[in-house]
Amino acid sequence: MNIQNYINGNFQNPINNHWIDNYNPSNGEVYGQIPNSTKEDVEKAYSAAKSAFPIWSKTTPEDRSRILIKISELLEVNLKRLAEAESKDNGKPISLAKAVDIPRAASNFRFFGNAITQFASESHESVGQQAINYTLRQPIGVVGCISPWNLPLYLFTWKIAPAIAAGNCVVAKPSEVTPMTAYLLGEICNEAGLPKGVLNIVHGLGTTTGQAIIEHPDIKAISFTGGTATGAHIAKVAAPMFKKLSLELGGKNPNIIFADCDYQDMLATTVRSSFANQGQVCLCGSRIFVEVSIYNQFKKDFVEKVKALTVGHPSNEDTHIGALVSKPHLEKVKEYIQIAKDENGTVLCGGNEVTIKGSENGYYLKPTVIEVTSDECRVNQEEIFGPVVTIMPFKSEDDVLEMANKVKYGLSATLWTNDLKRTMKMSNELQAGIVWVNTWMMRDLRTPFGGVKASGVGREGGFEALRFFTEAKNVCIKY
Ligand code: NAD
Repeated sequence: MNIQNYINGNFQNPINNHWIDNYNPSNGEVYGQIPNSTKEDVEKAYSAAKSAFPIWSKTTPEDRSRILIKISELLEVNLKRLAEAESKDNGKPISLAKAVDIPRAASNFRFFGNAITQFASESHESVGQQAINYTLRQPIGVVGCISPWNLPLYLFTWKIAPAIAAGNCVVAKPSEVTPMTAYLLGEICNEAGLPKGVLNIVHGLGTTTGQAIIEHPDIKAISFTGGTATGAHIAKVAAPMFKKLSLELGGKNPNIIFADCDYQDMLATTVRSSFANQGQVCLCGSRIFVEVSIYNQFKKDFVEKVKALTVGHPSNEDTHIGALVSKPHLEKVKEYIQIAKDENGTVLCGGNEVTIKGSENGYYLKPTVIEVTSDECRVNQEEIFGPVVTIMPFKSEDDVLEMANKVKYGLSATLWTNDLKRTMKMSNELQAGIVWVNTWMMRDLRTPFGGVKASGVGREGGFEALRFFTEAKNVCIKY
């Protein structure tokens, strides 16, 4: 199926009529083409957004809220169709797309549709000076939203929903690897009555289409989720233009297991936090540290559970592990397994590709557990972003804290313990934007989301996102 850009409420071909192949990771076949958009297409999208801004930015929060909630409802009505499209485009198990990705996209619109009606300005009476100060929260104008391939509609809408809720108009680019549900979102926005030009979706490569968005002098803010190297590049390009930036980048998250935890709960969740979406979630716990007294038991039980996971076709309802997103990504992950072996790591299970009958050219890899002897080896320091985790024992809180923090990233950390003192100490000292204790991936959309160090700058979620997508202006009136 070929898809088109969505500009000014219309679907249209790229101006140069150049196209990129779109692959189905479950069988390695090209199943459609997407626009290979250029600067000219981005300019067209920008013009549409600019023209829509004066009216959209003056609508009441209630009016915007109504449309966002309508989009949310239509995403729910179309859940099956969207989940199938997401699973085919990305390789993720259909059960995950149905239970998590698409419902979350609907929640994003519902949440920000409601949040904007509660996003109140502050005011202060400056006693003694006979003045009153209040803060206006004004939309920025035209903003850019750029998202990755791992949670396609989930992360695309996580940016778009707060941007338009706050009164901005958007030029957005989904990943060229997984464009399908972003394309379907355009249809839904039209059906929900979103005015033309408020959201414009331009498809294409990062280095051309994405680059045109970040270089555009009048796109005043960029909300980006993706790799750390791309984030650094965007920061460099944007700095001389003083663009507002929100950068959600890579991770290498520790999963720290103490002997006093609820063992069965921890075990089941650790399987999920290691391999959900083939390990292609920025929040997956890819470095597992286990207190030495339970290390051997954990190793045995964990490997047994991982071996029982079903690698299969993404459209199969009982598949646990679907296909990796692309051939180059599969090759990258396999390279890391070789690097681990070269660095004296022991592959406890997995490590090799899987052939699925009828889909022999799909990108399937067995979930892989590697025992490492040093926390400083490359597989423990570099983001792999696939179904590969490392495990190693630790002796004390201080040892594990040091190892957990000794990476360039700082996105999330998971801690398993029932000791309150330890919980407080560790969660204070772990260098991460999110610490989960005795759970993983439990999200409340009101909470701030983001990373520290090479995992990014800025926070999304709740009022943080609405603050990002508005400029604060102080007005001081003397009376
Ligand atoms: P990527 O950086 O290659 O691409 C992300 C997006 O940026 C894509 O749409 C791409 O086309 C675009 N892009 C690439 N070069 C660009 C440029 N020069 N200018 C503008 N846009 C450009 O990342 P990816 O491979 O799609 O995604 C995987 C990465 O995303 C991993 O590192 C993962 O950890 C990270 N991620 C982070 C979070 C988070 O919330 N922190 C969430 C999901 C994924």
